[in-house]
Amino acid sequence: MRTVKYTKTTSWKQASAALAKDPKALAIAGGSDLLGMIKEGLEGKGLPRYENLIDIRTIAGSDAITFKASDGLTIGALATLSSLENSDDVKKNYPALARAAGAAASPNIRNSGTLGGNINQRPRCWYYRNTEFDCYKKGGEFCFAVTGSNAYHAILNGELCYIVHPSDTAPALIALGASAVISMADGGEKTVPFDSYFTGPRVDVLRENILKQGDLLKEVRIPAPKAGTGMSFLKAQRRGETYDFALANIATVIVKKDGKVDDSRIVLSGVAPTPYRATVAEEAIKGQAITAQVAQAAADKALLQARPMTDNAYKVGLAKSLIVRSILEAWA
Ligand SMILES: Cc1cc2nc3c(=O)[nH]c(=O)nc-3n(C[C@H](O)[C@H](O)[C@H](O)COP(=O)(O)OP(=O)(O)OC[C@H]3O[C@@H](n4cnc5c(N)ncnc54)[C@H](O)[C@@H]3O)c2cc1C
Ligand code: SF4
Repeated sequence: MRTVKYTKTTSWKQASAALAKDPKALAIAGGSDLLGMIKEGLEGKGLPRYENLIDIRTIAGSDAITFKASDGLTIGALATLSSLENSDDVKKNYPALARAAGAAASPNIRNSGTLGGNINQRPRCWYYRNTEFDCYKKGGEFCFAVTGSNAYHAILNGELCYIVHPSDTAPALIALGASAVISMADGGEKTVPFDSYFTGPRVDVLRENILKQGDLLKEVRIPAPKAGTGMSFLKAQRRGETYDFALANIATVIVKKDGKVDDSRIVLSGVAPTPYRATVAEEAIKGQAITAQVAQAAADKALLQARPMTDNAYKVGLAKSLIVRSILEAWA
């Protein structure tokens, strides 16, 4: 039986300091992702065998959700996915986020899984999650998905590693213009837009975001929606009748002015190693009154850069169809 040290913390400073001084320490929130990885014994040259769990659920107030019409929404990183899905403030002002939180995993997992854990969960690539495969992401020297089974892998921006980002809430946060408040190892804090929070394999194949040892996601802040804002969240999954990770999902936010698109953010997950902002589609609809033809032309342009692998070409058509439906839904 494997044993790990467990430390309860009562402040972000204490938690960041405890993590910073021990390279084998890792933050635990709801544990729904992390405990599975520990039980499976996943480790490698670039993936430490974690021996010290720093509990951040014990930090008072870290699960609060507060909304002010003037400032927007602040969500403590320890807020559960269920509390987001059921919050009246979130449902009324940020329905795309409420839907994204409610689309993740099963009710049981959403009751314990936190927003911070959902954003920072590790990839689901089946080679990565299998102790037999020492791939690049574990510090090995090969990507098994390239010549192996890659039906659920990236069609955009893959390089070295072809994971897709697994979080349903991440694209909604980027589409809503959210920022991350990060508690840092030196006791300070910084605020970073989610646009630059997630990092791909080119930056560092061992990580998926900018957090360094000792950094923790403390809060998520989302500005109040502008007048004329419409939004949508859609998720395509293989097992539609039960819970499943996304084959692809999309969050779209459109700001309408004088009957035309004044501004938009269109963000997909399940297609690239990080949540993928379809800026080409955003540019294509700017200044337009949305019709099915305008949405289709934007979707076609957005997927021109796609480079599918042997088993995942279906994702190109899927992503296009999600872009069209989501633009039309946000516009309506
Ligand atoms: C069967 C199953 C199905 C799932 N389906 C989906 C799905 O369809 N869509 C989806 O989006 N997700 C899905 N998930 C993932 C699930 O949403 C996450 O497991 C959950 O949100 C993680 O939250 P947690 O609080 O349990 O995190 P933990 O398991 O405690 O932590 C996960 C990781 O995040 C890190 N972490 C946690 N909080 C912070 C923080 N505040 N700052 C920095 N790092 C932090 C931990 O160190 C760890 O590495 C599924 C999970 C399972 C087990
Ligand atoms: S896609 Fe990434 S995680 Fe999966 S086998 Fe390749 S290197 Fe490993």
